[in-house]
Amino acid sequence: MTARVLVVDDILANVKLLEARLSAEYFEVLTAYSGQEALDVCARERVDVVLLDVMMPGMDGFEVCRRLKASPRTHHVPIVMVTALDQPSDRLQGLESGADDFLTKPVDDIALVTRVKNLARLKMLNDEMLLRASTSRQMGMAENEMLEKALSGRSGRILVVDDHPRSAARLLEVLSKSHDSFVERDPQAALVKLAQHNFDLLICSMSLANADALRLCSQVRSQERTRHLPIIILVEPGDEARLLRGLDMGVNDYLMRPIDRHELLARVKTQIKRKRHSDYLRNRLQESVEAAVIDPLTGLHNRRYMESHLKTLVSEAIKSGRPLSVLVADIDHFKQVNDTYGHDGGDEVLKEFSERFRRNTRGIDLSCRLGGEEFVIIMPDTDLARAYQVGERLRSCVAADPFQVRPDLKIRVTASVGLATLERSDDTPEAVFKRADNALYAAKRRGRNRVSADAA
Ligand code: GH3
Ligand code: MG
Ligand code: MG
Repeated sequence: MTARVLVVDDILANVKLLEARLSAEYFEVLTAYSGQEALDVCARERVDVVLLDVMMPGMDGFEVCRRLKASPRTHHVPIVMVTALDQPSDRLQGLESGADDFLTKPVDDIALVTRVKNLARLKMLNDEMLLRASTSRQMGMAENEMLEKALSGRSGRILVVDDHPRSAARLLEVLSKSHDSFVERDPQAALVKLAQHNFDLLICSMSLANADALRLCSQVRSQERTRHLPIIILVEPGDEARLLRGLDMGVNDYLMRPIDRHELLARVKTQIKRKRHSDYLRNRLQESVEAAVIDPLTGLHNRRYMESHLKTLVSEAIKSGRPLSVLVADIDHFKQVNDTYGHDGGDEVLKEFSERFRRNTRGIDLSCRLGGEEFVIIMPDTDLARAYQVGERLRSCVAADPFQVRPDLKIRVTASVGLATLERSDDTPEAVFKRADNALYAAKRRGRNRVSADAA
């Protein structure tokens, strides 16, 4: 990722210093020497993070920040306020102007890179999320609620691990105004809690009396359930060695003690947003992957999935020398169902048929709707005799009980079944499939409602 960072300061030497440090970390750097110039650059170019000096003649940093946050075009560009004096009032005013984080001059290297990396990553996720959301809107999908939640950094669920009662109480007091926060003194108990509940953020003190806080961070990173959980660590001044180890093992951000409440709130908000953005993108990916391989009417896999998966299953069966059978089923006289009960009636039959179909398959079987009223089961580890039993069970399960097409109407439905099995090591997916299809037509010819196996 090459993020573009805009450095804004009225003093040339300050700009050059930050530019040099950021370029050394492979960020792309843009510069501006006044508030107005900064606004012009942001209007003209893509900017991923702004480092904004507070004290500038003319338009000061707060005003620039307010204007950038007020414009829809630059609203989502993260802004780091660079304050000359370590003054809490500057930070409060910065937060009120919409700033996302703070740096204090002289700027510490670890702080600079950590702040910029976190916010650049947030911006990237944010851009991607808005892009996907706009595509879905173009496709007519409503999802404002999900998006709204993902965009907000409010009301997160936070676990604080700190065994110092006063420190923990102070953290809780600040966080609880906008988040649900919980304290845990013991890292092992914390790990259990994190695995059981959905948290948005872990804040972990590095100075636990009887435990190694970095071990907890590493465990959180390695466990499936908590792998994506953001972590902020609380570090004592002078403990840079552990800070760097923490950042190395995937800790997202840190706060130096004594903890400034505005910094705390800003950093918490960034991490919660980041978590929500990536959750949103992951869920969307899941949904679009499913949409591409699932038949919407029946919830079975579709033809596209079956075709790609059949290849894999056939080559595995050939490699391992195990049998594999293919079952093709087709509803008898389905056109008449549509003609008599309408297309909706037909759809109900297809859904109920799929339900019975699913009930007759094992977990490792792959059941799909090929299209129309044709269905397939691919059965690994199954020879023709066993496949015949499955086919017969399916046929009788369809024929035995009438189908409910409407609340007041049940009709009798039958299906014909064709079977084929993998024959030789040079057999192909297409050939097995074709033989199953031929068997199906033989079953139709011989009077329907029956199972026929490929005799090749
Ligand atoms: P056979 O016993 O020889 O299989 O006769 P059939 O009437 O079942 O076969 P045919 O292939 O002639 O007709 C299949 C019908 O399935 C025609 C088509 O309109 C209908 N069909 C295809 N897809 C759907 C669907 O998604 N919903 C509904 N309701 N009908 C569908
Ligand atoms: Mg049919
Ligand atoms: Mg048909």
